[in-house]
Amino acid sequence: MSRSFVPSPNIARLKESATLAVAAKARSLRAQGIPVIDLGAGEPDFDTPAFIREAAAAAVEAGATRYTATEGIPALREAIAADANRLLPAGATPFTAAEVVVSNGSKQSLFNACMACFGPGDEVLVPTPSWMSYYEMLELARATAVPVFGHAERGLKVTAEELEAAATPRTRGVMLNSPCNPTGAVYSREELEAILALADRHGWWVISDEIYLRIAYDAPATSALQLAPARDRLILVNGVAKAYAMTGWRIGWAIAPVAVAKAMTSVQSHTTSNPAAVSQHAALAALTRVDEANAAIDTMVRAFHSRRDAVLDALGTARSLAVHPAGAFYLYLDVSSFGGEDPGAKFAAALLDTHQVAVVPGSAFLTPHWIRASYATTEAIAVDGVQRIVRLLTAGA
Ligand code: GLU
Repeated sequence: MSRSFVPSPNIARLKESATLAVAAKARSLRAQGIPVIDLGAGEPDFDTPAFIREAAAAAVEAGATRYTATEGIPALREAIAADANRLLPAGATPFTAAEVVVSNGSKQSLFNACMACFGPGDEVLVPTPSWMSYYEMLELARATAVPVFGHAERGLKVTAEELEAAATPRTRGVMLNSPCNPTGAVYSREELEAILALADRHGWWVISDEIYLRIAYDAPATSALQLAPARDRLILVNGVAKAYAMTGWRIGWAIAPVAVAKAMTSVQSHTTSNPAAVSQHAALAALTRVDEANAAIDTMVRAFHSRRDAVLDALGTARSLAVHPAGAFYLYLDVSSFGGEDPGAKFAAALLDTHQVAVVPGSAFLTPHWIRASYATTEAIAVDGVQRIVRLLTAGA
């Protein structure tokens, strides 16, 4: 007799990661011989720079094959603190390794932070649209994610006033992400400053996901640590995945007040222990061989920049339907003209069916009138994909 599986209440409302699902679908169609253009996954198409791969291989030969401290090897934690210190305003107290926890990708750092800081009854403001995993991680921590919607005329960014209007006495924190996934919008210094000041006034936790910080085109993106009035409620999350083209190595980190860092380490000690030793050594090379890393990042960001410009050109008049993509590598496009209750999902399904292009429906990010197209692929493929998007937009439903 086969018995059906009833998910536990822990995950009863959990939704699968839409970004990973689209990537998996595109891979499976390709495996069947269907030449899908994958603008779904937010994953750089570049190889990890050679000096990092070589450092990892050497580390394995030198014995980096065992457990490490849960929170990461001391040299990497020091390198992460040093990397953050370069951004601090003059006179600010430098970070130390004690404030750093290295995890299996920035995703785990975000999850650890949500588990450590929030619980039942807590509300956390999530500027929306945002990367869907924030909502799910907050749910897993049994807190309540409160989406705060940004206006299209501001590139879907939210203001401090909008956040304040959504706050209640139960508000405990806010999730920030600039440059933003899925929109590519970048918060200005002033916008970020106002939000950080608001959070400080209320004593909210600020979890600032800065994984796309180095990938900005019009001007350098601002980090919360350049502006935060205080650091006792600030958790900074970053990693090597996007800027260093190291998605598969799974190395991210959080920089947090020591007590929070300890709590996050504790969560991690019971779930995954340390991130892979070899990956930590790869990240150590990335963060300490600064000149080589900067040269590699510059080359990749220049390529993303040129693709960004090329896809905007390919949009033609449909450009007015897109959020201005000032950072990350996403194009967020209003497809409400396609009609129906969930125009983004309808559009994405039709696009895959009739034009063989995979994109993520905006409903994944709580904004069903939009779609997200990632241009972290060759310029020719990105342009071809966007031209097909325009053809479907023009043809209509
Ligand atoms: N963050 C990337 C994306 O949004 C990678 C997939 C994921 O972890 O969600 O596509």
